[in-house]
Amino acid sequence: MGGKAYDTVIVGGSAAGLTAALYASRQGLKTLVITKDIGGQLALAPQIENYPGIKAVAGLELAQSIKEQAEGFGAEFVYDEAVGLSQAGDAFAVSTKVSGEYEALTVILAFGKTPKSLEVPGEDRLVGRGVSYCAICDAPLFRQKRVAVVGWGDHAFKAVKLLRSYGNKVYMVHRGEAKLTDEEILRESGGMNVVYVPNSTVLEIKGDTRVRSIVLKNAKTGEESELEVDGVFVEMGYTAKTGWVRDFVQLNENGEIVTDKLGRTSRPGVFAAGDVTDMVYKQTVIAAAQGAIAALSAYNYIQQLKGLPARRSDWGKLLGK
Ligand SMILES: Cc1cc2nc3c(=O)[nH]c(=O)nc-3n(C[C@H](O)[C@H](O)[C@H](O)COP(=O)(O)OP(=O)(O)OC[C@H]3O[C@@H](n4cnc5c(N)ncnc54)[C@H](O)[C@@H]3O)c2cc1C
Repeated sequence: MGGKAYDTVIVGGSAAGLTAALYASRQGLKTLVITKDIGGQLALAPQIENYPGIKAVAGLELAQSIKEQAEGFGAEFVYDEAVGLSQAGDAFAVSTKVSGEYEALTVILAFGKTPKSLEVPGEDRLVGRGVSYCAICDAPLFRQKRVAVVGWGDHAFKAVKLLRSYGNKVYMVHRGEAKLTDEEILRESGGMNVVYVPNSTVLEIKGDTRVRSIVLKNAKTGEESELEVDGVFVEMGYTAKTGWVRDFVQLNENGEIVTDKLGRTSRPGVFAAGDVTDMVYKQTVIAAAQGAIAALSAYNYIQQLKGLPARRSDWGKLLGK
């Protein structure tokens, strides 16, 4: 331990984390947000039409506006990736990839969901050089090229349609086999210039400075082949990347953090909110509400730690004390 000390360190800078920061800092807590970006999944939503009180807003705009609100009450931000969590007595330490360690009396885990990756050689090295996890963000960078969309389902079809609309030739790489006919696939994906590649797993992404090709393995024949492409869009959905807190708080079978209705995890002093939790509904307004709950609970926890009155006089009872 020995890093900078805060009342609360929040991991994640989207609906849940930013709302937690707003509530925590407004309660007078010395608040730090450690986040890889502002907006997370929310930034990928071009139009949010179901956030109460706002008819329509771009996800990123909503996130930035909550961030400004939180900053107005004194919340601080560090752009980094949290990679470890430890406890010594009443203090927690969150360690990061680049900027070191931050100490706090409470931690709010609000790091949402992250796109699933292929975990194959070449993938990490070529991110931003042809490998993308967000067709909505990066499709405009590809025009009249050959691209592969890896995945199946709604997300993948949307990506194929979008990429096709920029004049690209799109290979839809699917590890299984669709029950749809070729015609139905063409209709789903918006028309011509789409090649369906079933029963195929990506083994490697090749390229020096940019993606050049992908190596595929056919699940039926075991045959390997190389497909020349300029881009790879991994559209396999999202997952809670909770490996780094696995030994610290209880997770459910989906790897999500188990919380109670006060946002408490299995470890006193550590709270969680948003899509990273076992809440079944993954929506912006719900993540934001959970962020508010976690921050109020963190405040009450600290008050109790300091022997001061909690915001609710029955907080002790809620804690079972
Ligand atoms: C394309 C799309 C459209 C959507 N449309 C809607 C909609 O119309 N209406 C609606 O209500 N919801 C919508 N959603 C869902 C909504 O975006 C999510 O429910 C909401 O963003 C969840 O917020 P969150 O704060 O829990 O996590 P996320 O938005 O997933 O954000 C997680 C944050 O944590 C950060 N992070 C992750 N790991 C770490 C780490 N180890 N260290 C530091 N920081 C980390 C990320 O950088 C990010 O800032 C949509 C989602 C997508 C993908």
